[in-house]
Amino acid sequence: MAKEKTFPKVDYEQCMACVMCILACPFSCMEAEYIPPDDEYKKPRPKMIYPEYCISCGICVTACPIDVIEMVKAEGLEEILAQEHEARKVSAIEKEKQRKEAVEAFFKTMAEQAAQNEP
Ligand code: SF4
Ligand code: SF4
Repeated sequence: MAKEKTFPKVDYEQCMACVMCILACPFSCMEAEYIPPDDEYKKPRPKMIYPEYCISCGICVTACPIDVIEMVKAEGLEEILAQEHEARKVSAIEKEKQRKEAVEAFFKTMAEQAAQNEP
């Protein structure tokens, strides 16, 4: 029988945002993010961003110096996280598109101004 997939679950109430777990992961599955986004302490905490790369090895659990990560069964979680990941990709693509449009608009304006200033 295939081993059931589990994911690390961080107790954000206790997490001290040392990021040891993020550094320990051999597949860089987690990144530091402000959780919750309006965190008054402004401490970036670990968030799973590449669940598809997680092999449930538990190295992140071992790396946590205060033992606030546990591996949990991932029924439905994998799909949710994968959707979140897709949403992030879409948002990154959209941001890049907006950046390119802004750069193009800038150079177009510069070219128009230069043409107007030509003798
Ligand atoms: S269980 Fe292993 S692969 Fe998954 S996030 Fe933790 S260290 Fe990374
Ligand atoms: S190692 Fe533990 S305390 Fe440090 S950021 Fe990760 S979950 Fe939080």
